[in-house]
Amino acid sequence: MSTCLFCKIIEKEIPSDFVAENEHVIVIKDIQPKAPIHYLIIPKIHVPTINDILDTHEHTIAIQAMWGMLRNLAKNLPEPQAFNLIVNNGAASGQRVFHMHWHFISGKNIYSSGIKL
Ligand code: 5GP
Ligand code: ZN
Repeated sequence: MSTCLFCKIIEKEIPSDFVAENEHVIVIKDIQPKAPIHYLIIPKIHVPTINDILDTHEHTIAIQAMWGMLRNLAKNLPEPQAFNLIVNNGAASGQRVFHMHWHFISGKNIYSSGIKL
């Protein structure tokens, strides 16, 4: 049995608020949302960070499926369909759950809270 939080959510061992699911990806609501819409796009395969992604068919399919899910989420936003896609990669960048995921954030300008890119 996996000790990974997101693997447990994928296996429905831990309940979560699901937004979407297909063969390769789940989308759940973040438990501590930082904006009106704050979803996590998570591949079903366990890959700790982007640095662990391999050039294999399995990994390529997973990333492609994440991208497809992102496009669907964006399409379903009200005009002007604005969002932020954030990836924390590695502990030093703020990553806390070591099962790669993308934060999909919308409904709030995150730069209003100080950070500037
Ligand atoms: P990270 O810091 O690794 O990029 O993001 C992990 C995210 O997972 C955080 O935004 C945190 O709020 C969220 N999170 C942590 N535990 C849970 C949980 O049990 N359920 C859900 N839905 N989100 C979680
Ligand atoms: Zn995992």
